[in-house]
Amino acid sequence: MMTEEGDFFMFIHIRLKTAVSLLCAGVLVLLTAVSLPAALRGKADETPRRPADGASEQAAEGTPVDVPILMYHSVCVNDRVRSDYYITPEKFEGDLQYLKHNGYTAVFISELADYAEGKGELPEKPVALTFDDGYYNWLTDVLPLLERYDMKGTFNVVGAYAEKEAQAEVRSPAYSYLTWEEIKTLAESGRAEIGSHTWDMHELGARRGCKKMKGEAAGHYAEALTEDLSRLQTALKENCDISPATFAYPYGEISKESVPVLQKLGFRAALTCDERVNKLVRDPSVLFSLGRVNRASRWSTEAFMGKYGL
Ligand SMILES: [Zn+2]
Repeated sequence: MMTEEGDFFMFIHIRLKTAVSLLCAGVLVLLTAVSLPAALRGKADETPRRPADGASEQAAEGTPVDVPILMYHSVCVNDRVRSDYYITPEKFEGDLQYLKHNGYTAVFISELADYAEGKGELPEKPVALTFDDGYYNWLTDVLPLLERYDMKGTFNVVGAYAEKEAQAEVRSPAYSYLTWEEIKTLAESGRAEIGSHTWDMHELGARRGCKKMKGEAAGHYAEALTEDLSRLQTALKENCDISPATFAYPYGEISKESVPVLQKLGFRAALTCDERVNKLVRDPSVLFSLGRVNRASRWSTEAFMGKYGL
């Protein structure tokens, strides 16, 4: 039989056991509460990130970088009717001098893509020089000037023009186009990045440039664009060992349906003729609608640069 003393100790023992059990349960609840969100966070951190996710976070903190993209075409002495699509070598040199003296550093469009995709940095005052259509004078006049002023540019060629140029008997910097071999030479200078300006969609006919025609089925358009652009990609790979990452819309004629086609073919950026200075952030979604300002010969260097705040 238990004594009263025994009963008392039994009572204390039971109370202590209960208290310990409650304490353990409490600690368990507390531990679970602390560790569960941490576990969930850990799981989220392990999920592979697309570059865009990390980049968007940086963009939220960072200030957009002003990136003017200048658009040139032919650089030659031209006595034709006044055109907005050529500039004299003297004026082009004036532009380079101006940019140099004002602290600008030339960058390739692929460097803008790198930045927007969250890789690499940009110089303090970046400027992108772009050239459309594939002129022979890029080799005879533009390249020596780029070398003289330590600049570089993105040159967007038209496949059909390069192909046709192989048959040309007389050639002149005033009107000829680059052959495949010359495109390769230009690229090998290290001062030129080659971009695509379509194989043969550089006309304002039933189709405006490479824009989707009114009433054209989306599937038909995607097929036509893929076929045209693939032909130039293949030719550049075979003849020049180049895989362009930049696309320039002929005449700035854009269709939103073109973007998935461009991405599928490996392009990282597309140039429009939308006249504005780009505000680049660490967000690649801006890369397929980059604005450009056309450098027409009728402006003086100062007037042109001043117009866009350069
Ligand atoms: Zn063009």
